[in-house]
Amino acid sequence: MRTKIEDQQAGNDSGTDERADPSRRGFIKTAVVAAAGAGAAGLLRPSSVEAASGPAKKRYGDGPYTAEGMALYSSAGPHKVMKFQRRALGPKDVAIQLHFCGVCHSDIHHGREHWRKEPFPLIMGHELAGIVVAVGSSVSKFKPGSRVGVGCMVNSCRHCGPCEAGMEQYCENGNVFTYGSKDRDGSMTQGGYSTFNVVDEDFVIEIPEVIDLADAGPMMCAGITVYSPLRRWSVGPGRRVGVVGLGGLGHMAVKIAMGAEVTVLTTSSAKVEDARSFGAKTVIVNAPGADLTKFKRSLDFILDTAPYQHDLERIIPLLKLDATLCMVGAGKISEPHQIGPFSLLRNRNSFASSQIGGIRETQELVGFCALHGIRPKITKIPKEKIDDAWTKIVDKAARYRFVIDMAAA
Ligand code: NAP
Ligand code: ZN
Ligand code: ZN
Repeated sequence: MRTKIEDQQAGNDSGTDERADPSRRGFIKTAVVAAAGAGAAGLLRPSSVEAASGPAKKRYGDGPYTAEGMALYSSAGPHKVMKFQRRALGPKDVAIQLHFCGVCHSDIHHGREHWRKEPFPLIMGHELAGIVVAVGSSVSKFKPGSRVGVGCMVNSCRHCGPCEAGMEQYCENGNVFTYGSKDRDGSMTQGGYSTFNVVDEDFVIEIPEVIDLADAGPMMCAGITVYSPLRRWSVGPGRRVGVVGLGGLGHMAVKIAMGAEVTVLTTSSAKVEDARSFGAKTVIVNAPGADLTKFKRSLDFILDTAPYQHDLERIIPLLKLDATLCMVGAGKISEPHQIGPFSLLRNRNSFASSQIGGIRETQELVGFCALHGIRPKITKIPKEKIDDAWTKIVDKAARYRFVIDMAAA
């Protein structure tokens, strides 16, 4: 069987056996309820910066706003400064001064046109974090001074089944992505490698004060992309989860892990100690030719975060009976993964996939990280170093998420 990444979403209804275990459901529920409760006590409360009134409004007005970003003008790069305008505030819009933006491997896939032809010039970045500086007339959740994040989506239809269920990432009418999508005014969305953005409040995430804004960025994509499937497949205490690829997503998966025992599969022997420090009990260096037979049938769930085509035939035998391999890594369209005819049937395994997470769920993930002290391991860079960071990411040399600091020079 030859499968393409875009056909891999079908596994969403599998794995029901793993969802039935009440002890794991209990763990998750407790954590989430606790996070929500803590919110009432301040964890999830928006920043206490004074509401403001006049000065912020006066300074920023209602737009349109001049912004500056690091754009690619072709897939060959490099990034160059681009001045452009963000739209004027609509009634439900918030204007955000961006302070940080994480660098995701998806930015590289887009920038290098691994997935499609891109609408250059294009500013990437979908792990935004910043401070609200002005709000539209009907905004209710935020005020100037609120600490906020924005992830991969900035709008969706709001009325289809998935949208109503809080899964805007699966909007049947197509959501608006943070960059490279046609916005509702017909313009092209531009991402977070920039100084400023204007976003509908329904797609903006509150960042509690206990979380540094620099750490919040990577939660907006890397964090939610691993949290959502870990929850969907009820990973939790008493279960063994495998994480393939210790990068931006992978290291967050190890840290989040929902109380399960973690096995990391890495191609980088230099990352073994880090994997353990993030919480992995077992670390397998998945080098070409390495013998993995002693790990056969040892895992209840595998979350595969590795980009690009890699050998799934080595990984699938590690699944127990009825267990699921969920692929969140997304390689080149031209190089789909291959799964042989007998690979899944031997242990009645499922092959699944998952795309980021909904807005409510992202807010929940932020609360979960606040409650459990989970933070990404980041390296801050000035915007001039984006090309260098992309090279390091592809070389597996990131430790473990580059975050652009808009104020750094
Ligand atoms: P990353 O920081 O580069 O981490 C990926 C890790 O995978 C690397 O550190 C490396 O870990 C391993 N790896 C890299 N190249 C590999 C290869 N050719 N073969 C096997 N392993 C390889 O990337 P990321 O930002 O975490 O993103 C990972 C993937 O997830 C990307 O494809 C990205 O587009 C995708 N993504 C998907 C979603 C979604 O909604 N499904 C959301 C965000 C990102 P080791 O050194 O440990 O082997
Ligand atoms: Zn991403
Ligand atoms: Zn929708």
